[in-house]
Amino acid sequence: MNDLETSTTVSSDNPHLPPSGISVKPRKSRVYLHSTCGTQTEVDGLEFDQLVNPYNVVIATICCKCGPASLGAVSWIDTGEVVSDYRARLRSLVPTWVTFLPILLPLCLGALGGIAGIVTAQGLDFDMVVTGLYVAVGLVAGVLLGFVVRPMLAQHAVKTPWRFID
Ligand SMILES: [Zn+2]
Repeated sequence: MNDLETSTTVSSDNPHLPPSGISVKPRKSRVYLHSTCGTQTEVDGLEFDQLVNPYNVVIATICCKCGPASLGAVSWIDTGEVVSDYRARLRSLVPTWVTFLPILLPLCLGALGGIAGIVTAQGLDFDMVVTGLYVAVGLVAGVLLGFVVRPMLAQHAVKTPWRFID
């Protein structure tokens, strides 16, 4: 825990300085090996960025021979690390509160919806259904917002581009 806090402080002074203990290499693409068929596939561009941001929801990647391949069945050719393990390791670099955004945001927006329902009801006219609807809208908006915002905030917190991290 202390290591994480220290490295966060250090890297905020210099956006290019990686979290301590992390080796980085500027790269535009990377090659992974599909263990099932032994084929190597190079990933670059937007697909690369989406794959390596550990908070993007990625169910599978593509093997250029077989098509969809699970992240547990592909490993980086340069380090040998399985991509699903790699993403889990990257998640550990991110502050805990970022991890809980899809829970925190719905709670906040749901509570706001409840307050809005009570305020608009104007006293005795309190309508349980309308208030419930506001709460539900707040909850759903919070969940969606959480999943959209989290990958961005995670990258912002770590600073080093994910694709540079070995
Ligand atoms: Zn394959």
